Amino acid sequence: MPVLDAQGKTFDVSVPVLIVGAGACGCSAALAAHEKGVEVMILERDETPRGNTSLSGGQIPAAGTKLQKAAGITDRPEDLANDLIDKAHGECDTELAWHIARESARTVDWLVDNHKLPLECVSDFRYPGHRVTHMHASPSRFGAELLTVFLQAVENQGINLATAAPVSDLYADRSGRVRGVRVTRKDGKTEDIGCDALILACNGFGGNKEMLRKYIPEIVDAHYHGHTGNQGDAIKWGEELGCSLKDLGSYQGHGAVTTPHTIHLGWPSITEGGYQVNSLGKRFSNENAGYSEQAMNVVAQPGHVAWTIFDERCDEVAMQMHSHVLCTEQGAIKTAKDVKELAAIIGCPADALEKTMQDVAAVARGEKKDEFGRDFSTKPPLKAPFKVAKIMGALFHTQGGLEVDKTGRVLRADGSQMPNLFAGGGAARGLSGPSRWGYLSGSGLLMATNLGRLAGEAAADLVKGK
Ligand SMILES: Cc1cc2nc3c(=O)[nH]c(=O)nc-3n(C[C@H](O)[C@H](O)[C@H](O)COP(=O)(O)OP(=O)(O)OC[C@H]3O[C@@H](n4cnc5c(N)ncnc54)[C@H](O)[C@@H]3O)c2cc1C
Repeated sequence: MPVLDAQGKTFDVSVPVLIVGAGACGCSAALAAHEKGVEVMILERDETPRGNTSLSGGQIPAAGTKLQKAAGITDRPEDLANDLIDKAHGECDTELAWHIARESARTVDWLVDNHKLPLECVSDFRYPGHRVTHMHASPSRFGAELLTVFLQAVENQGINLATAAPVSDLYADRSGRVRGVRVTRKDGKTEDIGCDALILACNGFGGNKEMLRKYIPEIVDAHYHGHTGNQGDAIKWGEELGCSLKDLGSYQGHGAVTTPHTIHLGWPSITEGGYQVNSLGKRFSNENAGYSEQAMNVVAQPGHVAWTIFDERCDEVAMQMHSHVLCTEQGAIKTAKDVKELAAIIGCPADALEKTMQDVAAVARGEKKDEFGRDFSTKPPLKAPFKVAKIMGALFHTQGGLEVDKTGRVLRADGSQMPNLFAGGGAARGLSGPSRWGYLSGSGLLMATNLGRLAGEAAADLVKGK
């Protein structure tokens, strides 16, 4: 993924704003730049775009949207900003968090009003760490549908999207100004395309074991649940260009991906009162602290697996999530009429499991404190028949990346702006702080859609000479 010297290089074809990657970020950027009257082109590695946006739960947080107002939800940018900053223990770019929270309603309103994305408020489930129901999703609550409507909007605007077009190299001059890119097709043929501004919307490095080993060794051997095309290209180019890279050890994990089915359980299986045991029938953590940090708690168990135990009431709430429906359809969730049957499914000693379940019930009744600090008093105790699924910890997506300003412009280590390079979504540094515990649900698509729109607008202004 080299950066090639642009000295003396001329391009037969040139587009004012080039975008690498056709996920939520690339599409948002393209729509925004096009709306400002600038010619745009998206270059996408895959024949059919299927990045993380399409694998996601498709839920976009925003505070104070028209949809929320119509649904009677009072939400304010300060609520979203504080949720983001609290989850990251204040160790993120707090100014950017405030800015994104303030912009979030404008982004969702724009996607709905101008581009007819069929979004609705998710008001029946509040994600951990959200003090208000911030989420917006398309009807199926599945990212594949969200990406489809994004791509439809791009097509409706007549924006040029080249697929099967992996960008292998950038051309830059000595000042760091990007002059163009090289696309290397599957058959080895190359095409060089010039640009006045480049937006990197090609996500992080979750699919690149070598980079994971270097930056996040703790998760390198865990299951990767994201798109394998996330090879860290933006970060590699950024490094060569002398850009500032931040929080490369940060990621969103998930503590309940079913095995061997590799589909994630809906997290209400935990938030509604479910919990996890290991192969000894023992709990090992506060499962409700967050699904991201729970990944490593599960990885640390014997055989790197655990079992999520819940009941029909929890299951009903979790069934609002597309992936939970898939878990059900594919037989990843089993039913046990009593503790003995549950222990047989798990393969753990029945007396140990019985003790674990009695301990949880005693905590819920307020008779003792939970040894892991979880509060079980807010939900009804689990009732037979029980639901159970064998799960593993997984990596969903990396959160570190190129440091950007409020317009998505990439920064150098000394804080100065790169001349014409922008980044958003998983290619940019997220708002999750330095580690596994700072990811607030929805932060991924929040940064993809908002930084995408802001970068698209700013890149268009830049090339128009504003
Ligand atoms: C299972 C799962 C569930 C999730 N659920 C949610 C959720 O409900 N809410 C939320 O906010 N976030 C969620 N996320 C995170 C969210 O999906 C991502 O943060 C978001 O989709 C990132 O968008 P993006 O446009 O940056 O990247 P992507 O959608 O991954 O798009 C990047 C595109 O760039 C292309 N590309 C990469 N390299 C090149 C190259 N060199 N040349 C050309 N193209 C290239 C890729 O093929 C891809 O199409 C989830 C993630 C996973 C894995």
